[in-house]
Amino acid sequence: MTTDTGAELQRDHAGRLRHLLTLEGLSRDELTHLLDLAQFYVRVPGEVPARDQGLWGRTVANLFFEPSTRTRVSFELAAKRLGADVVNLDMQSSSRVKGETVLDTIYTLQAMLVDVFVMRDAEPGLPAYVAAHVAPHVSVVNAGEAHVSHPTQGLLDVLTIRQRKGDLGNLSVAIVGDLSHSRVARSTGRALLTLGVGDLRLVSPPSLMLEPHALAGASRHHSLAEGIKGADVVMTLRIQHERMSAEDKLDAAAFYREWGLSAENLKHARPDAIVMHPGPMNRGVEITSDVADGPHSVIRQQVTNGVAVRMAVLSTIVRNVQERNVEAGRRAV
Ligand code: ASP
Repeated sequence: MTTDTGAELQRDHAGRLRHLLTLEGLSRDELTHLLDLAQFYVRVPGEVPARDQGLWGRTVANLFFEPSTRTRVSFELAAKRLGADVVNLDMQSSSRVKGETVLDTIYTLQAMLVDVFVMRDAEPGLPAYVAAHVAPHVSVVNAGEAHVSHPTQGLLDVLTIRQRKGDLGNLSVAIVGDLSHSRVARSTGRALLTLGVGDLRLVSPPSLMLEPHALAGASRHHSLAEGIKGADVVMTLRIQHERMSAEDKLDAAAFYREWGLSAENLKHARPDAIVMHPGPMNRGVEITSDVADGPHSVIRQQVTNGVAVRMAVLSTIVRNVQERNVEAGRRAV
């Protein structure tokens, strides 16, 4: 299995999105369409959630081979609010552990009329591999693939920035911290670049920077103060210990001293800067509690937007598959 596959595979013969495996290759118009649809579904706490019957009669299976709270629950709520049946499989205690191949599990669920597989895995390549093998009416959505990509997180991040700051073309966005292990940095950075962000900065210690050619067009910085200077958006990332080998393990206290986002060093950013974090947060490591819970933080808004974005993605791919089926049916008569 290769990394960051799927840009071609995720489209049908007519170029429609049938799966969402990666944000690589999505055009500005496609991203904008998904964001506009997500915006239509956004409701804030206290309001009745948006509902729609776009997935009525359909079945969505959540297959998470890595732990997840926000993403798994928001995919479940998104599917239910679109009228789907939802099954959640705890893949950490699944048949894969008993020796069944992932494809056998997929074919078993497909035989029970599952239409959409939402998948998360610690190894690169699984969503594309499954997408290459499912039946033509079945879709796969990548809900987090190793360090490689997390497309719905990328969408919810740019939706949050757009809501708070408007036109991306005028903005400086700094992504800070453990970039090298972050699928969020890769997907959010890709979406920002495609949408024409004014200034994208990657800010991390050299050992945690992205590989040399990733996110071409972004500038790279190895000092927190310099990297976030005058930024409109500061997005800090979780230290992902689970992706570090024993010899790469970080000293959390030392990281905090140099890289922790505190109220004091947030003063380098613009006075009206927003602070983002994909969660789960290591408070007192990459971010202090006063920043995470303070007036600049839009972290809970990101979570709210996560449900709306996942509704937009699920309804778009299911509608595209239905269109394809209608066309195929017409050709058959
Ligand atoms: N929840 C995000 C992800 O799944 C960020 C993180 O885990 O640090 O990638």
